[in-house]
Amino acid sequence: KLVSREFKPEDTVVSVGPVRIGAGRVSLIAGPCAVESEDQMMRAGEAAADAGAVMLRGGAFKPRTSPYAFQGLGERGLEILKKAGESLGLPVVSEVVSAEHLTMMRGYVDCFQIGARNMQNFELLKSVGGMGMPVILKRGAAARIEEWLMAAEYLMAHGTDQIILCERGIRTFETYTRNSLDISSIPVVKKLSHLPVIVDPSHATGIRDKVLPVALGAVAAGADGLIVEIHPNPEEALSDGAQSLYPEQFEKLSGDIQALCPVL
Ligand code: PEP
Ligand code: MN
Repeated sequence: KLVSREFKPEDTVVSVGPVRIGAGRVSLIAGPCAVESEDQMMRAGEAAADAGAVMLRGGAFKPRTSPYAFQGLGERGLEILKKAGESLGLPVVSEVVSAEHLTMMRGYVDCFQIGARNMQNFELLKSVGGMGMPVILKRGAAARIEEWLMAAEYLMAHGTDQIILCERGIRTFETYTRNSLDISSIPVVKKLSHLPVIVDPSHATGIRDKVLPVALGAVAAGADGLIVEIHPNPEEALSDGAQSLYPEQFEKLSGDIQALCPVL
């Protein structure tokens, strides 16, 4: 298989603009769950950049459980995200939920994200693979590692080798946290595959004050980076406020990670 270590023994380094993920340092990606406004995105982006993030995140098409919940700003959100990235000199990533958005989105993002809910949307995987651009592939909430790697195989088989795997917690019997971070997936995937692995401690826990300890654990276990939700004013967030870090909490996270290992 294309994703396997047997096929390619050396680690893959994924380049997103000037950022190299999987080159031996820890890359921090941060931003709001959803782009809500120019002001919110700029303030989150500045907090991310000031604390050493190398890429900005921001959702424009949100896969919400409820159809009545905020669905994202769509193309307008991508415009805002791109503008923030350009003004801060950072590449940007946003989730793609439908193949019909791909050509439009290519004009705004440096990296696509495939969310947990779409990890096995095989037609979407084929279309995104065909773009030949970097992709963050989240693990499905109920996906086995083998299934996650096969989803990456779809992307590779269809034209991109620029894949960053993202562990974001799986659904277990435990309800205290939103998901359960499968920390062992990091060394397992590193052994099976040459692709870089990052961790999303925000969706893994769903609880702001659990993000830092889980992030530290992920990096200690060998993660190549972290993707973290931050918000200038989490109480007012239109999605995932409870897990979004205040800017000063992200600064603390970044400092603690740097004490553990070199960051990008
Ligand atoms: C997100 O990153 O905003 C998101 C929806 O994550 P996941 O697909 O991991 O739930
Ligand atoms: Mn979110």
